[in-house]
Amino acid sequence: TNTQSELHASILQKINNHPCYSQDAHQHYARIHVAVAPACNIQCNYCNRKYDCSNESRPGVTSYKLKPEEAVKKVLHVGGLIQQLSVVGIAGPGDGLANPKQTFETFALLKKYAPDIKLCLSTNGLMIHKHIDEIAKYTIEHVTVTLNTVDESGEIGSKIYPWVFYEHKKHRGLEGAKLLLEKQLLGIKMLVERGILVKVNAVLIPGINDAHLPLVAKKVKELGVFIFNVMPLISKPEFGTKFGLDGVPSANHKQLMRAQEACDVNVKMMRHCRQCRADAVGLLGEDRSDEFFKESFADKS
Ligand code: SF4
Ligand code: SF4
Repeated sequence: TNTQSELHASILQKINNHPCYSQDAHQHYARIHVAVAPACNIQCNYCNRKYDCSNESRPGVTSYKLKPEEAVKKVLHVGGLIQQLSVVGIAGPGDGLANPKQTFETFALLKKYAPDIKLCLSTNGLMIHKHIDEIAKYTIEHVTVTLNTVDESGEIGSKIYPWVFYEHKKHRGLEGAKLLLEKQLLGIKMLVERGILVKVNAVLIPGINDAHLPLVAKKVKELGVFIFNVMPLISKPEFGTKFGLDGVPSANHKQLMRAQEACDVNVKMMRHCRQCRADAVGLLGEDRSDEFFKESFADKS
């Protein structure tokens, strides 16, 4: 039908120069992450606060934090040097929506000074429902939500998330896990309803959620999520994460392949993710953050 092909055209238009959403685009278009969001509102057992949010980034990497106006300066500078720059993402170093002031100030400035660039946001999903109007207002076309479990009892979630901070209160254990899941599902639904393309990331945590991931994939498909990305847990004691210290081993390549196959329930799978850092610059897999790290965009005054 007409509407179906119109819908199809609008999706194509959204993904055709986004390196993370389109396999074809990932060799031709570049993205930049600006690390403007330091705080987080939940605790993941694979996270060490000294480093970037492990939901979208490679664990064990520390990004240089920027203020919104510094971030925009950096985007404009990089955009002048890398012609293929098509996407700006906020993926940490904490959670974009746990720092709404910095995040939306950055998006507002980008809309003004770099109106052609696509905006992307990555979040743990707890606060999407509260900011859905702002997300739509700044025409953020792409949102990544990390959803590691859809277990309604909270059992699996409580092993991953020791606490969730919501409305001035720390919610622990099953209660926290159930609350997070409820808000994640609500948030994803709201995004899909507004026509925003959603990517769901799930961290494959051996012995905790590996067998459960096909159920996550099923839910993701039901919700109308655009693409599903299973990322391996990288746990190292030197990262100081709870899982690393407790000896939950990293997921190996074989486990990842097996999980990706088990999750291939007719939902589009991302197979070219590079677990980029919160200040990544360049094509996926060609990280030029160090090059631009040396040039300081921080306000010295
Ligand atoms: Fe760390 Fe990201 Fe989890 Fe927050 S959402 S605790 S920054 S991994
Ligand atoms: Fe967006 Fe994630 Fe790609 Fe960054 S790596 S541009 S946050 S989808």
